Amino acid sequence: MTAPSENTAEYLQALSERPSAPLRTETFRQTRPSTVGPDAVEPPFPIFLSGAVQKGFGRGGKDLGCPTANLPDESITPMTSVCKPGVYFGYAQVYGLSEQEGKVHPMVMSLGWNPFYKNERLTAEIHIMHEFKSDFYGHDMQAVVLGYIRPELDYTSREALIEDINTDKRVALKSLSREAYMKFGVDPNPANGGFDQERPSL
Ligand code: ADP
Ligand code: MG
Repeated sequence: MTAPSENTAEYLQALSERPSAPLRTETFRQTRPSTVGPDAVEPPFPIFLSGAVQKGFGRGGKDLGCPTANLPDESITPMTSVCKPGVYFGYAQVYGLSEQEGKVHPMVMSLGWNPFYKNERLTAEIHIMHEFKSDFYGHDMQAVVLGYIRPELDYTSREALIEDINTDKRVALKSLSREAYMKFGVDPNPANGGFDQERPSL
């Protein structure tokens, strides 16, 4: 096995201490771009992830009004081995729901230790930009990660974190509205697995 490259989530996870996340500053808030990344999807993206949705601490939905579907630990290596902690965007699809709910939807994803909550465990959590009628724990979920939005930050207030999450969602939608990104969200026939058709054969 090769050693994980420096600054990837996998590398940081192996250290004895969690990386310290900087506090979100006012300058950061005021200077956030509305679109991120190049106009083409560039390596290491797209990164495909899949797994059954796991139970977490239940904070995302209750505390932040932003539920995040947690991927199983063993499914996130394609991401942790090449990406640093932070907030990412892409598309996700949940299987075993109605046709409408089971479509490919835009998503924002947090990869890291959630500094505001001081988690010990590295998690990959996906907020799907769709109002679901009910929870979907245990359902298979597929995601394609297409770009990086921002680093993991720490917050002095829940409100500031919520504000950044709302900005993340706007940035994700704007960034996904470019042609090269949009094609991953095209779901001509959900029975075919949506963006999964783009997945390179292994
Ligand atoms: P947990 O800590 O268990 O992940 P959350 O408060 O983050 O709890 O809620 C996540 C759960 O909420 C998901 O596993 C899923 O079943 C459900 N859920 C409902 N709507 C969404 C959504 N739009 N995006 C992600 N998960 C959602
Ligand atoms: Mg969650």
